[in-house]
Amino acid sequence: MVILQKPDIQENYDDIHVSASSVNAIIDGCPREVLYRYVLGLEPQDKSSSLILGSAMHEALAAFYLALQQSKVEMKLADMVEIAHGVIESAQAINFKEGETLETLKAQASNLLTVWHKNGYRPQGTILGVEMKFSIDLKNPHTGEELQERLLGYIDLLTENPDGTMVVTDHKTIARRESDRGQSQDLQMGLYQYAVETLFPGRKVILQFQDIIKTKSPTVTITPVIEQDKNAALKQVYSAITHMNTALMLPDPSVLLYRRPSWRCASCGYRAQCR
Ligand code: SF4
Repeated sequence: MVILQKPDIQENYDDIHVSASSVNAIIDGCPREVLYRYVLGLEPQDKSSSLILGSAMHEALAAFYLALQQSKVEMKLADMVEIAHGVIESAQAINFKEGETLETLKAQASNLLTVWHKNGYRPQGTILGVEMKFSIDLKNPHTGEELQERLLGYIDLLTENPDGTMVVTDHKTIARRESDRGQSQDLQMGLYQYAVETLFPGRKVILQFQDIIKTKSPTVTITPVIEQDKNAALKQVYSAITHMNTALMLPDPSVLLYRRPSWRCASCGYRAQCR
């Protein structure tokens, strides 16, 4: 996430980070949401049930892969379900869709995890990291000058194949199968590729999505992602940083961090604030 603050209140420039989600929020999402979340530090009024379900699945999968890495044993389904239910029950405020309740959301998590436990991804190589955090230097892609901001991210699963190839797996809980999935440029994947190539120079990097598709009969698929244009991704990061820093220099940052109404507003955690 971007943690960008006005220079006069920023105590330590080493703490200024940008991430794929914050860059996406500025470039593709809603700049006003960025103002609320990252500049003013406001808590969202609630989180969508889809977001909570995705977090629950992430937590359960992370525990599974961590146990596999540390003890070489597969976590039982019941333990994964307990973790996912714990995430859902501890959510402060959930924006449910029509007909949904806490119980139906927990049932959906159980159902998805049952399918996942049977068919989910078991890496062939060595697990190097689960929810692996990275924080690496950034440069101005046009001049090469060092930036004060750093690139921050968490890789869901990083493994190393026997031939030394690094495999980045990103877990996604999605509503439907997409025919062109993995065939386009994806900022998050581009930045993961850049991060792994920086941290493990000379290694080949493979990117893939592990999609948990929450249709009536759920499925799990591994989708390869095409090679990413890292320079284009880094240019997007630089544009977002420039946009944000310019906004923060204004007497009223909301001039540049403007409202961008879209379908996202219905589940936006700042919709009451924004009205
Ligand atoms: S409600 Fe819509 S316009 Fe307002 S912050 Fe959220 S996404 Fe942006």
